[in-house]
Amino acid sequence: MAAQPIGRHFLQIPGPTNVPDEVLRAIAAPTIDHRGPEFARLTREVLDGLGPVFGTTNPVVVYASSGTGAWEAALVNTLSPGDRVLAFETGHFATLWRDMAEALGLRVDFVPGDWRRGVDPDTVAERLAADREHTVKAVCVVHNETSTGVTSRIPEIRNALDQAGHPALLLVDTISSLGSIDYRHDEWGVDVTVSCSQKGLMLPPGLGFNAVSDKALRARESARLPRSYWDWKPILEANRRGFFHSTPATNLLYGLREALRLLDTEGLPQVFARHRRHAEATRAAVRGWGLEVLCADEREHSAALTAVVVPEGHDAETIRELILDRFNTSLGAGLGRLAGTVFRIGHLGHFNDAALIGTLGGVQLGLRLAGVPVGEHGINAALDVLGRKETA
Ligand SMILES: *Cc1c(COP(=O)(O)O)cnc(C)c1O
Repeated sequence: MAAQPIGRHFLQIPGPTNVPDEVLRAIAAPTIDHRGPEFARLTREVLDGLGPVFGTTNPVVVYASSGTGAWEAALVNTLSPGDRVLAFETGHFATLWRDMAEALGLRVDFVPGDWRRGVDPDTVAERLAADREHTVKAVCVVHNETSTGVTSRIPEIRNALDQAGHPALLLVDTISSLGSIDYRHDEWGVDVTVSCSQKGLMLPPGLGFNAVSDKALRARESARLPRSYWDWKPILEANRRGFFHSTPATNLLYGLREALRLLDTEGLPQVFARHRRHAEATRAAVRGWGLEVLCADEREHSAALTAVVVPEGHDAETIRELILDRFNTSLGAGLGRLAGTVFRIGHLGHFNDAALIGTLGGVQLGLRLAGVPVGEHGINAALDVLGRKETA
């Protein structure tokens, strides 16, 4: 049995992420009456603060749920049994969303992918142009595929829908991008933006979100998939008075209010620039080690995490275990078909240069100790990026 580790744990998985002390302290307050006036003020502050983070002036529905729950909410509020939806095999999470849609009784056109690229806007355009009868009711896209470290280009995908003149709803999973990577629900014409608390928003798990367009709200009126807990309407009605229709996750909402304040203080453009810079430094380290970044398209590198391909003959799980054991640092495992062949470095949320240097130092040494032949230049290449004058 290893000795109790000393010092802070480095939680460098791409979610849940490190929770700032301010947020932890905010959560550690007495739970209040969720039907009283103080709660109504909390609801208004939180709902007002969420809008800018989603880039919307429309409602954001808040659930006591994981991100998976918020996926289900997006589907059951907008679609009917047997509806066709277009989805793309960008990785593990896109595949799980497909499975859920099928389990709910939807027919999914799942465009195959190699788990190294995002959604191809040209394919979206082709598929929708071919659907002259407009039988496809929704297009489901994972903005940042957390299993691969690939970010799909939502504005170009929106453009593809518009070019095809197709009325399908656009449903986007921003679970690992919101609050880390530039995102604009209104400007990009997204109908439902799905997200949750434990990634870029720097909270513990337990809150799910749906930002909804007017078109999505209209679709809800005729959507016939069974829904009860996930129904937007009773929640939005109660929200107007400052409440929720069932008991909300009060203490997580305290944390959310604080996390939104932190994001606002840093400023979203700076938050996004910080994530891009840490991602660039991480990729420089990976190249310096002589290893390969999984993402195969320069335009699609994720700013939130980097998936690293482990050379043949080595097991990513052994490397992760060694790094956890020696450096008290958690890295993300390879998910689904990537199990054992990649590990993922999360660089999102509450994070800074020193934490990245510590993480990459642990990875470099861990790779060496695991017998993976790596160039010693990796960490220095990352330092070179971090040492450049900040431009953002
Ligand atoms: C984490 C994640 C999910 C799943 O969220 P849960 O809170 O675990 O249900 C879905 N999609 C993406 C892109 C994710 O990163």
